[in-house]
Amino acid sequence: MADKTIFSQILNGEIDCDEIYQDKKCLVFKDIDPQAPVHFLIIPRKPLVSLKEATDADTELLGHLLLVSAKVAKQEGLESWRTIINSGAEAGQTVFHLHLHVLGGRSLSWPPG
Ligand code: 5GP
Repeated sequence: MADKTIFSQILNGEIDCDEIYQDKKCLVFKDIDPQAPVHFLIIPRKPLVSLKEATDADTELLGHLLLVSAKVAKQEGLESWRTIINSGAEAGQTVFHLHLHVLGGRSLSWPPG
């Protein structure tokens, strides 16, 4: 289980966000420090710390989050985008509540830094 994080506070309404989609399993909102013209985050309501803690019981949830990422990317007018999940501090994870980033609206280089 995730400890109290900025994202759990967004989920319980303690902190505002610029919400663009929600359903029973997840919340989607714009990143506060966008790295591309479109940059939003998908977070599960279930308090998973990261992909490292996910189990087979999360198979359906993880598939749902990916499908939501594509649905909202299209909703935001993107034709191309990148979906990123940082797992662990060295990979760049700073908020320890699982989240997917979606970035688009500009050319994205490869490999990422
Ligand atoms: P990570 O580095 O963990 O993969 O991504 C965390 C992301 O959360 C960062 O891109 C950061 O800008 C974003 N973020 C951190 N705090 C807040 C916040 O309070 N509101 C929103 N909307 N995004 C946040």
